Amino acid sequence: MNEIYIKKISETLNVEPWRIKGALNRGSIQVLKKPFVYLVFRKELGKIERGTAVFFNDKDVVVVRGFPKIKRAFYLKPALMMFEKVAVEEKMDGYNTRVFMLNDKVYAITRGGYICPYTTKKLREDKNIERFLRDYPEYVLCGESVGKQNPYVVHEYKEAKDFGFFAFDLRKKVENTPLPILERRDILESYGIKNVRLFGIFDKKEAYKKIFEILEELEKENREGVVIKDPEMKKEPIKYTTSKTNTSDLRYGFSFPFELGKDFFFSRVIREAFQAFELNESEEKLRERARKLGESILIPFVESIRKVYKGEILTENFEVLLNNDEEAEELIEYLRRQGIVLMFEKERKNSNIKLKVQRFMQASYDKIKSFIEKGIE
Ligand code: ATP
Ligand code: MG
Repeated sequence: MNEIYIKKISETLNVEPWRIKGALNRGSIQVLKKPFVYLVFRKELGKIERGTAVFFNDKDVVVVRGFPKIKRAFYLKPALMMFEKVAVEEKMDGYNTRVFMLNDKVYAITRGGYICPYTTKKLREDKNIERFLRDYPEYVLCGESVGKQNPYVVHEYKEAKDFGFFAFDLRKKVENTPLPILERRDILESYGIKNVRLFGIFDKKEAYKKIFEILEELEKENREGVVIKDPEMKKEPIKYTTSKTNTSDLRYGFSFPFELGKDFFFSRVIREAFQAFELNESEEKLRERARKLGESILIPFVESIRKVYKGEILTENFEVLLNNDEEAEELIEYLRRQGIVLMFEKERKNSNIKLKVQRFMQASYDKIKSFIEKGIE
């Protein structure tokens, strides 16, 4: 990487040049070449978050900072005491998307900081987003892309069956400072851009009761949970999910039990334990919760063993609808570069192409197969 650019990046991010060079050499800053040269922070570097991406335009570097990690509350009551007032927004279950303007075009990057050709194409179709970013080029529009048509997280929402984008933050490009909740919501609404739902702004004392009521409703509708925020966005938000979300994560995780780390599983057990405690559940309710938890672990696990035993492979499947071969090829190439083993099937549907993707769950398949064959580790 050219010295002049290293100097510029260093000045913009306020990180010494030698640290940037070191990170480039170690590969913790990755240099991408497609669709043009840009940098992705694969690890955090000082104050700069993982997922930060650095782009180049004619004269300058354009920095899109990583989206900050949101801490989880396991036990809600004390966690709420850190706030004065809380804005309770819906936590939607899709994938984190940051949208911004670069060289007069809209681009969308994923949590890790990579330009996603599929999401970029989808969001370019929304002219409101383009109109907004033209007026506010110094901002990054952060939101959740949801729906059934995407290569990352499939969860159907009645308001966005195939694909939808719901904003939850507006942050300054370089500084990463967020706008207050109501200001962000108003600006975006005036451009016709949808925000995630806001359930209300509550005093911290009444919030506790309200949040559990909200969660009960969300659970009925199979929705993920809430993010609890300082209305001024001066404090770090926290997230809290429904019990159904926890067990459905486990059901997914245990159908591929050797892909995800033990932390993934344990964290969900902690959530269930503290929620049961916090809700002061009756013996009967606790047993019901225990049954659901156990089922979400064991049933998918046994089903996967049966599959491998029968000679089947373990895959996660998703599909996306694309306009033409070129788009399909671009997405295939992008997904392959993520280093996952994938199988593709193209199906023509009227003038569109349905791309069916199967992700081979290698670690789980290999481990289960080896247990079946050898019986011991
Ligand atoms: P990370 O916290 O690093 O993103 P994770 O996979 O554990 O990792 P989640 O548990 O999904 O993430 O929680 C954080 C994510 O929730 C955010 O990155 C964002 O994509 C998503 N999200 C959905 N709705 C909201 C919302 N209303 N406000 C903020 N984030 C939201
Ligand atoms: Mg999520």
